[in-house]
Amino acid sequence: MIPYGRQDISQDDIDHVVQVLRSDFLTQGPMVPQFEAAVASYCGATHAVAVCNATAALHIACLALGVSHGDRVWTTPITFVASANCAVYCGASIDFVDIDPSTCNMSVASLAEKLARAKAVGALPKVVIPVHLCGQSCDMKAIHALSQEFGFSIVEDASHAIGGRYLGMPVGGCQYSDITIFSFHPVKIITTGEGGMAVTNNPELARLMQQYRSHGITSNPDEMLIPETGEVWNYQQIRLGYNYRLTDIQAALGLSQMTRLNEFVQTRRNIATEYDRALACTPFAKLEQLEDTCSSYHLYPIRIDPQRCGKNQRQVYNFLLKQGIRVNLHYIPVYRQPFFEAMGFSVGYCPEAERYYREAISLPIYSSLKPEQQQYVIEVLREALSV
Ligand SMILES: *Cc1c(COP(=O)(O)O)cnc(C)c1O
Repeated sequence: MIPYGRQDISQDDIDHVVQVLRSDFLTQGPMVPQFEAAVASYCGATHAVAVCNATAALHIACLALGVSHGDRVWTTPITFVASANCAVYCGASIDFVDIDPSTCNMSVASLAEKLARAKAVGALPKVVIPVHLCGQSCDMKAIHALSQEFGFSIVEDASHAIGGRYLGMPVGGCQYSDITIFSFHPVKIITTGEGGMAVTNNPELARLMQQYRSHGITSNPDEMLIPETGEVWNYQQIRLGYNYRLTDIQAALGLSQMTRLNEFVQTRRNIATEYDRALACTPFAKLEQLEDTCSSYHLYPIRIDPQRCGKNQRQVYNFLLKQGIRVNLHYIPVYRQPFFEAMGFSVGYCPEAERYYREAISLPIYSSLKPEQQQYVIEVLREALSV
C-alpha cells in the first residue's frame, strides 16, 4: 500500500531521542526551549510556545486573544475540524467563509463580503483563522488589511505549512497575523509524534500562551497575584490553564527533524513538480499556486470534475485503492460534520467548499516516496481515466 503521507525518521533522529531517554529530564528539561528557539529562528518570529499538538496550540492561541462566551470566530470549511473546535472550546460561536475555487484557501472576496454584512448587524468576528491548505499560504496581506478595517485578530493555522514561504518570507514570521500555529503530527512536514507550536512576535501573547500551556501557573514573581510573604512560595496559579506541554523526548525528535526541514520541503516540491508535469495533459485539475507563495506541499490534491474526466471522485478513489494506493480526501467541509450540522449549518452553506469536497483527492506525497512509486501512481491515475 502506498499511503498519502508518512513520516521520515533517520538514525540521527533516533539517536537524539535515545540521548534524552538516558538524560535527567524526560519533560520540562532543556530540549523544549531549544526546539522552540529553532522554530522561532527558522520562521523569523520572536517567540515560540511548544505544545502537545496543534489542536492545543489553536486553543491557547484563542484563549490568549481573549476568545470567550459570546465571541465569534471564523475559519474555512476546507480544513481539519480542529481549526473550528478551538473556538467551541472557548465557548465562542464558529462560522465559515467559503473558499476560493482556484487555491481552495479562504476566499478574501467572500471574507470581505461576509465582514460587511456582519458589521451591518453588529456581529463581527473576534478572531479569523485562515488555514494554509496543503502548505500554500493564504493571501495574508489582504486578510491583514481587512483585520485593520474590521478590527479582528488573526491566527494562521499553518499545520500544513512549516517550510512554506509567503512574499519571500518563511510562513510563521507573523508579519500579517497575531499568532501562527504548526502541527508535528506524523503526516505533516516534520514530526514529533504528536506535537504543535504557536509562534508570535507579541511578548504578551507568548506569556499568556505559556501560562495556558501549563495549568495557568507562573513562577515569575512579577506575574504573581499574591505578594511574596517570605515563605517558600515559588509558583502561583493565576488563571485556569491546561497541561498542554510537549515532552523533551518529543522536542529532541523535533529539533533533529528541523535540521532536515528544507530537504523535506525540497523533496516534496520535486514530487509536486513531477505530478504537475505528468498530469498537465490529463483532465485532472490541480490547485493554482500563486506568485506570492511557495508551498511546502503537505498535500497534493487533484480535482476530478466528472464532466471533464468521465469518472467521478469515488470511481478514481476505488480504482487507486484496488491498485494499492491509499489516497484520501482533505477535507469534508467542517460544517457538514454532524456535530456542526447540529449547530444549524446545512448542505449548500459554502458552495465552493462543497464542490471541492465532491471532486478532490490527495495523491501520495512525502519525502520518502520513491520516484518509481510516484511513476506507478501516475500510471494508475492515467489508467483510471481509460477503464
Ligand atoms: C493536523 C491539523 C490540525 C491538528 O493538528 P494536531 O497536531 O493533530 O492537533 C489542525 N489544523 C489542520 C489544518 C491540520 O491539518
